[in-house]
Amino acid sequence: AGSNAALLARREAAVARGVASAAPIFAARAENAELWDVEGKRYIDFAGGIAVLNTGHRHPGVIAAAKAQEDLYTHTSFQVVPYEPYVALAEKLNALAPGDFAKKSLLVTTGAEAVENAVKIARAYTRRPGVIAFSAGYHGRTLLTLGLTGKVTPYKKDVGPFPGDIWRAPFPDARNGITVDDALKALDTLMKTDADPDRVAAIILEPVLGEGGYHPVPTEMWQALRAICDKHGILLIADEIQSGFARTGAWFAIEHSGVVPDLITVAKSMAGGYPIAGVIGRAEVMDALAPGGLGGTYGGNPVACAAALAAIEAIETEGLLARSTAMGESLRARFADMGARVAPFRMWDIRGLGAMLAVEFVTDFDSATPDATLTKAVVANALKRGLILLGCGMHGNAVRIMVPITASDEIVAEGMAIFEAALAEAIA
Ligand code: PMP
Repeated sequence: AGSNAALLARREAAVARGVASAAPIFAARAENAELWDVEGKRYIDFAGGIAVLNTGHRHPGVIAAAKAQEDLYTHTSFQVVPYEPYVALAEKLNALAPGDFAKKSLLVTTGAEAVENAVKIARAYTRRPGVIAFSAGYHGRTLLTLGLTGKVTPYKKDVGPFPGDIWRAPFPDARNGITVDDALKALDTLMKTDADPDRVAAIILEPVLGEGGYHPVPTEMWQALRAICDKHGILLIADEIQSGFARTGAWFAIEHSGVVPDLITVAKSMAGGYPIAGVIGRAEVMDALAPGGLGGTYGGNPVACAAALAAIEAIETEGLLARSTAMGESLRARFADMGARVAPFRMWDIRGLGAMLAVEFVTDFDSATPDATLTKAVVANALKRGLILLGCGMHGNAVRIMVPITASDEIVAEGMAIFEAALAEAIA
């Protein structure tokens, strides 16, 4: 296959510049929480393909299920000849999602597509156009989802205009002093100045901001949003694409709040490395569009459905929800200890839910000025030492942990030791 350097040169010549890669290495093979590059170097993977691999690279159950499906048929298009794995996955998602009411699901291929469809469904059901999203939220790179995404650089730069009737409210970001009360007051003002609640179809929010920096939504915020939605006939959409399927110690992160959304978008770790996504919701809402109004040639690909059913089974049979919670607690303690010893006053925050955890670096504790330079150095040093990390946050100064929940304690400990060495080197 060639060296990393040779492949990098070919990549630069052949692949559009807008697709960035965090690591200047090329994958040769991977297993659970480990990856080997084309030069044979081993890495521990704390990025999990951007939160896709809660069940690890090539989970044996997922691979077996996908292979078995490949031996039967790989594509018919559900819109031409339907197949059982699609129905079985929809049944499973309906059963797993919170809410004591009848549910239905739609399967698509990518997270952005799931969000697009959730908005379409909400509009068709409510017969209203508007959507309210939040600052620092991330919902995808298609034009509607970019309209919902609350960060200009690099996502929205140079590619507007975005669809109308999208409004933005401030996220209750304790890190930057925005309380739930502040956020709710701003939302109330928004509804008086621009976003006529009678014209709003949906409010969409990530239960834990993903790309935006792993800030969990406080329970009181969810409760208030639920009440506002109920008052005005607005649908509440939880975007669980990054937070779902065991990352936070629950199937869906919103379950920690006890609040039940009307629609949930899912993707990523639902299928352990295969491209599939979906919308789960109240049956009457999901049925708003007439036959033909939803779908896509590849939506709910049978191999990906089989993989998803196996990944979900692995989460169930291997107790990965409880393991995620335990892993989150031990990572938190390890980071607190590491921060105090190795980077006093520079690791400003350790936050998240369960094993959906991020640490944030600052120039000094008092001003809490984001330190993207230090963060980049930690990520680069870690890669050199054999650990794949990925940043997040509005200011590029947080590192998020998306290690497979199936990773052994030994591998996680080895990864954290590399993290510590990388941090020590960056501080020095
Ligand atoms: N919503 C959230 C919360 C996400 O984290 C992502 C992907 N990072 C998306 C939507 C978009 O998913 P995709 O990249 O599969 O289109």
